[in-house]
Amino acid sequence: MQTLKSFDPDIYEAIKGEVRRQTETLEMIASENFVSMAVLEAMGQVMTNKYAEGYPRHRYYGGCENVDIAEGKARFRAKKLFGARHANVQPHSGSQANMAAYLTLAEVGDTIMGMHLNHGGHLTHGSGVNFSGRLFKVIPYELNPDTGRIDYDQMLRLAREHKPKFIITGASAYPRIIEFDRVREICDEVGCYHIADIAHIAGLVSVGLHPDPLPYADIVTSTTHKTLRGPRGGLILTNVEGGEFMLPNMPKPKTMPEAIDAWVFPGTQGGPLEHVIAAKAVAFREALQPEFRDYQAQIIANAKALAEVLLKAGFKLVTGGTDNHMMLVDLAPRGLTGKAAEKALESAGITVNKNMVPNDPQRPFVTSGIRIGTPALTTRGMKEDEMRRIGRIIVHILEDVEDEERQKRTREQVRELCSRFPLYEIPD
Ligand SMILES: *Cc1c(COP(=O)(O)O)cnc(C)c1O
Repeated sequence: MQTLKSFDPDIYEAIKGEVRRQTETLEMIASENFVSMAVLEAMGQVMTNKYAEGYPRHRYYGGCENVDIAEGKARFRAKKLFGARHANVQPHSGSQANMAAYLTLAEVGDTIMGMHLNHGGHLTHGSGVNFSGRLFKVIPYELNPDTGRIDYDQMLRLAREHKPKFIITGASAYPRIIEFDRVREICDEVGCYHIADIAHIAGLVSVGLHPDPLPYADIVTSTTHKTLRGPRGGLILTNVEGGEFMLPNMPKPKTMPEAIDAWVFPGTQGGPLEHVIAAKAVAFREALQPEFRDYQAQIIANAKALAEVLLKAGFKLVTGGTDNHMMLVDLAPRGLTGKAAEKALESAGITVNKNMVPNDPQRPFVTSGIRIGTPALTTRGMKEDEMRRIGRIIVHILEDVEDEERQKRTREQVRELCSRFPLYEIPD
């Protein structure tokens, strides 16, 4: 990065600081991960210069022969990885993928159903501050207050009453398996579509460690940068080959794959990020290797080991544990807020995020919980022993969030632990 260093030292130093932060702290934000050098290299290259509106071999610009190879490989590998008949790898993000999926299946003003943001759903699942809540009439479904699990009976009741165009499943903070087959039954009973948003769990799904949504959903959307461990971006899959979808200004109906593609471009995006798409192709190739299954299995084993330490220390976990890559700690019984816990852990070198728990009395900026995930540390090579040690550190810090000396001492231990699991080289 010598050119950058001499031209723009401010930005160079910020990047260097970020490499150092990622390398020397414990990254436990459940939605984050660390990409490989191969993915980083594929992202930082000249395909960022290329306009390629359209799709491989059907572009609005010349000179697309190389980006066509990258995007073609990305599509082929995504389909192979998930066993899907159609893949669109152009969405710039998970949110963009959802927007295109929604507009494929519903008209502005239609009723849709998604999980309430405060119960673990995503902003794009119908929050009032998001396009999803502004463009559609949203009926939120919730968790059962006693079990902390998705209340499928309530989902059915609400769907019967409000007749949504689609139900979107998937969550940003839900530590258990999602029963896509059960949602399909609900959708069939009321005659609506099912979108499964696997942004968080895509890596687990890709290796069969979480139930596969494709047989039960009309459209599957995802990010590529969470458990899937690719570059920041989105993905849309479907196994539905037919259908008749009318698009604005198009006289003839489109099939499901055609309609999805048209709602990504030109519907909601312009030129695709072909450098990122090249990096998605690399990440999918990594995910197709046999080691990727071991990695995903270790993510879950690590989450279970960490959850066990927290439970033994008397912490309350929403649903009492985890089936996947993350857990939600309810700190209210300890008289702690998520905000205070996040801050104390950050001072100790452990990055988590505050998170609402079901029926949280606190405001979203304060919250009663924290969300802890294991995908990133598992990428570094940490296993159950390290998780148990980190669990004890978390307990120690949360026993007195005011003790700054304790946080400082712990930060040294954290740095030492990190140095035994190298990540990126810090530039000079
Ligand atoms: C992260 C996430 C998204 C959106 O991802 P962005 O790339 O940040 O737009 C969508 N849905 C769910 C469930 C998520 O967790």
